[in-house]
Amino acid sequence: MNKINVVADKITPRKIFYTCPFCFTSTSNHYTYDTNKTKGGRIIKNRLPTIHHHGNERQTIEGNWETERTSHCQFNRAHVYIKINEETKRECI
Ligand SMILES: [Zn+2]
Repeated sequence: MNKINVVADKITPRKIFYTCPFCFTSTSNHYTYDTNKTKGGRIIKNRLPTIHHHGNERQTIEGNWETERTSHCQFNRAHVYIKINEETKRECI
């Protein structure tokens, strides 16, 4: 089983958000893809890294911690280690 480490972009009392290194979502059709490039290697501008979210088991935005989850990726079955640290934006809603 693959493992990946990510830093949470944002947490709220209910959710933890992180940018996925594997998935890209189209801003025009909202489908998810495993690449943001054409077969020729050109970057497709409207495919942005997918933001996945998981429940915040601590129900707080205080403190730094790590949490392990099964990924929500369509294209990758890895376990995700999500780090909540100084880079994580905290939102109380
Ligand atoms: Zn993903």
